Amino acid sequence: MPKTVRKTDILRREIRKARKQGETIGLVPTMGSLHAGHLALVEACRRRCDLVVVSVFVNPRQFGPDEDLARYPRDLRRDRRLLEKHGCDIVFAPDAREIYPRGFKTFVGVEGLRDTLCGRLRPGHFDGVTLVVLKLLLALLPDVAFFGEKDYQQLVVVRQMVRDLGFPVEIEGVPLVRDKDGLALSSRSVYLSPEERAIATSLFKSLEMARLLIAGGERRARTVEERTVTLLVDSGVTKVDYAAVVDPSSLEQVKYIDSDVRILVAAWVGATRLIDNIAIDAESIGRKRQASRRGTVAVIMAAGEGKRMKSDLPKVMHKIGGKPMVAQVIDAARQAGVKDIIVVAGDRSQKVMPLLKRLGVEVVRQDVQRGTGHAVLQSYPLLARFGGNVMVLSGDTPLIRGGSIERVLSTHKKHSNTITFITTEVPDATGYGRIVRDKNDNFTRIVEEKDADPGIKAIKEINAGLYCFKAEPLFDALLGIKADNVQMEYYLTDVIETMKSRGGRVEALRMADHTEMLGVNNVKDLEVVREIYARRKKDEDSKRRLENGIHRKRRRR
Ligand code: AMP
Repeated sequence: MPKTVRKTDILRREIRKARKQGETIGLVPTMGSLHAGHLALVEACRRRCDLVVVSVFVNPRQFGPDEDLARYPRDLRRDRRLLEKHGCDIVFAPDAREIYPRGFKTFVGVEGLRDTLCGRLRPGHFDGVTLVVLKLLLALLPDVAFFGEKDYQQLVVVRQMVRDLGFPVEIEGVPLVRDKDGLALSSRSVYLSPEERAIATSLFKSLEMARLLIAGGERRARTVEERTVTLLVDSGVTKVDYAAVVDPSSLEQVKYIDSDVRILVAAWVGATRLIDNIAIDAESIGRKRQASRRGTVAVIMAAGEGKRMKSDLPKVMHKIGGKPMVAQVIDAARQAGVKDIIVVAGDRSQKVMPLLKRLGVEVVRQDVQRGTGHAVLQSYPLLARFGGNVMVLSGDTPLIRGGSIERVLSTHKKHSNTITFITTEVPDATGYGRIVRDKNDNFTRIVEEKDADPGIKAIKEINAGLYCFKAEPLFDALLGIKADNVQMEYYLTDVIETMKSRGGRVEALRMADHTEMLGVNNVKDLEVVREIYARRKKDEDSKRRLENGIHRKRRRR
């Protein structure tokens, strides 16, 4: 267990001992109730310093009179257990009197920065932060102090104070740690109900959207801020305190985005105030754009991890007929005459990159997997100004034929559809979205299994997951999609609904051979698909031989 110290003089004694042995000292200030975000700071400290001191102090001075000081979560025993596992040597857990003895009168503030953004809405908050940080720095005189980028303004304020005072300490910022669904880890998330927790992820989503807008060419900070706020409001947050595009070191709001910026948001979900932020680097601003691309682009979703494939190989790299699945799909798109191809690759994309490079396709990354809609949205930076059609294919359906893609595309163009997608009848439709048609056989809607009554469940026609969209309404719908499901995943089927309600023409095209759309998710699927592929090849070969034979005979005559 790390040593727990409650008094500053005892702490100083420990520090002196360590110094005598030539050790470097690191400080991680926290308010306890630790999570993986805090622990990342502790680990960063462990990597750089010999003695790791973590302070756990719920600092009353940084809470406003109506804020959550009384109910702020506290559990020192749990914190100490966690810290032990992460290489902390000393937990400094003073009480309020130790830090602010009776008669305490001093205040510390960083002009300008103390009253902007969160400071404007939480008067006195940053004065409380600078005061406690200064007291901690004076207690330890550490070599390095670690602060999370989660509280980005705090990091900037502390850096400014240290610089102004000439305090001999290095301030190291540690990247923000998120939950799987994108929510920035925060001690305050324990306040959230499950419904609020789902809405809370919209902070990250709004920032991701902002990043895509900028990567897609939007340079007006005001527009980015407004779209961010709209998305937050549409997602059901209770109140937005601010969304701001700022200079990363001065926190001054920028008007025009032409170099690195930071986007910060603060919003209330119920009675809980949450903050988040994201870095936008010049590289994403400079991303090459397809300004004048017309015609049709295929977006191939290939980010699936394929956990059930029991292999290190990314799913789409498994071979069918001697070729990686994704290459089969790329071939089919090319056979259909689609030359511009964008592949959405996952976080293990380095294993797919050499192949994709060889095949001459463009690649965008989807780092977290949040549904088909989210996957396609990653191509937005390349297609922001694209007025043509977007064909969406799955990298794990290697049996798709070029002819089928071509048929979707030609129908789409001929009927001037907003969306044309493929449906097929399967022997067992359990688990799939069912296609509902009206009496004229026109598409009405897709009903997911969980919402299907017995009548709907009897339908054998399913959404086969191959779509052709008009690009502009597609991205409009994707960029504004709402957080109406718990996982905050978004799907292309939801987009169909949105685009239809906006007056778009939607056509569901039947495909006779349902095996073309078979997806590979596990080892068994792979076997099935390989068998079908082999059979198909055999049939094609014998057909070809037959035709050639007839041909030769004819010629001989
Ligand atoms: P707090 O206990 O909330 O005062 O946070 C203590 C330190 O941990 C601050 O420097 C925070 O920025 C940092 N921190 C909190 N949450 C995260 C997170 N999700 N990722 C990275 N750092 C964090």
